[in-house]
Amino acid sequence: MSDYRIHGETGEWEVVIGLEVHAQVTTKAKLFSGAATAFGAEPNTQVSLVDAAMPGMLPVINGEAVRQAVRTGVALNCEINKWSRFDRKNYFYADLPQGYQISQFAHPIVGEGVITVEPEEGATKDIGVERIHLEQDAGKSMHDQHKDYSFVDLNRSGVALMEIVSKPDMRSPAEAGAYVRKLRSILRYVGSCDGNMDQGSMRADVNVSVRRPGEGLGTRTECKNVNSVRFVEAAIAYEAQRQVEVLEAGGTVDQETRLFDPARMETRPLRSKEEAHDYRYFPDPDLLPLEFDDAFIEACRKDLPELPDTKRIRYIEQLGISPYNAGVLTADQETAAYFELLLNETALKQEKEAADIGKAAANWIIGDLFGALNAAGRSITDSPISAAQGAELLALIGDGTLSGRLAKDVFAIMVETGDDPAKIVEERGMKQVSDTGAIEAEIAKVLEANADKVAEYRGGKDKLFGFFVGQTMKATKGQANPAVVNDLLKKALA
Ligand code: ADP
Ligand code: MG
Repeated sequence: MSDYRIHGETGEWEVVIGLEVHAQVTTKAKLFSGAATAFGAEPNTQVSLVDAAMPGMLPVINGEAVRQAVRTGVALNCEINKWSRFDRKNYFYADLPQGYQISQFAHPIVGEGVITVEPEEGATKDIGVERIHLEQDAGKSMHDQHKDYSFVDLNRSGVALMEIVSKPDMRSPAEAGAYVRKLRSILRYVGSCDGNMDQGSMRADVNVSVRRPGEGLGTRTECKNVNSVRFVEAAIAYEAQRQVEVLEAGGTVDQETRLFDPARMETRPLRSKEEAHDYRYFPDPDLLPLEFDDAFIEACRKDLPELPDTKRIRYIEQLGISPYNAGVLTADQETAAYFELLLNETALKQEKEAADIGKAAANWIIGDLFGALNAAGRSITDSPISAAQGAELLALIGDGTLSGRLAKDVFAIMVETGDDPAKIVEERGMKQVSDTGAIEAEIAKVLEANADKVAEYRGGKDKLFGFFVGQTMKATKGQANPAVVNDLLKKALA
């Protein structure tokens, strides 16, 4: 893969990126209380006394959040730490009633791992994971509710987050984008986070620095809470360019926290190093360390579904599907599930092995079905065509009832009406005609009506063959079997 470089006035610069992704753990309750976590509730309706930090309240660990963090660690090929601990990260802010956040600092639950990404077709790269730790989210200040006051919503206070910290291994906006997409895909397969960035259940702190190729790490800035893949890429591109301009003008990059403004697609300083926090971490005395054994980790591993990388290799090796198509089909679990259902149904209907029909099924989903879904603004989970109906259509192509051309017409009617393909074929008489007698009769008419072109063709104008095919197909309302038409035309024109 070609290296991504920024071409400055004084030469080339390399970009270095590390991401800290906050992923809300999919659990009904918060990390240390029983309060609910559903998205979109009225402010302050999901707040227990623990989340509001009332005096004397004690946190109780949510076992499901721990299990989800371990499953995630296993899925990301990470080391699982059998002993970990919660620390208090102390700071003052209106949306943090405790005056500290319970997090994991010195001893996270999950250690080093790796995520394989594919920023460009055929070019994979391994991005290191530094650690994953569990922590609680803060509340939200609302500055737009009243002209004189700011309000606080504590619904998010105490919600369980996994912070997934990458190594500074990414070198371009595209690599960072691919990393976030891949991470989101895996989290969704695992079921430990819904990955909905627009609802804030996944967001990234984007660390960026620049350096001359081959030099050591430069000073980084950190853009907080970037909430879409596109914005992650835009923040990096903007920030890298800005740093290069600062350095080339003889300045230095300040290690600071910045904010990405999606309206202007630029980053701005949020707080500088002078205001940098001293969090005074110390072990939380209200919580016991987390300890588990190999059996627990094994149980977490066993309970994982087939993950996208494994699935993709299986599709390529066992079903003969192209690496690109296999990537598309496995990017999310719903598409893979639809594909596998389609494949099973088609195999049953046609009495064939999955390997013989995998390619056709993949092409149909990616070409026809995705095209129709995009046009209708729908996702595969509310596809107007079920996997069973898709299988029926593929079977009609497989047994020669429909040509590729006719199948496209039948498909368009299926999208419109939701009817089964067999019914459409029956009612509208859309069967492919392979009967040679019927086709020969049409060919004879076409040649008679175009005697001049027949003479030209026989005089050596080979290109006209396509014209005759077109005319014959038109005469048979597209229902003639194209292969048979070709054969018969060749004979008739010889
Ligand atoms: P902190 O928690 O204070 O932000 P960390 O050491 O945990 O600091 O690093 C946070 C993130 O910054 C990690 O994802 C890491 O890969 C990334 N990072 C560290 N140094 C650099 C650098 N020089 N350039 C870009 N990213 C960096
Ligand atoms: Mg950080």
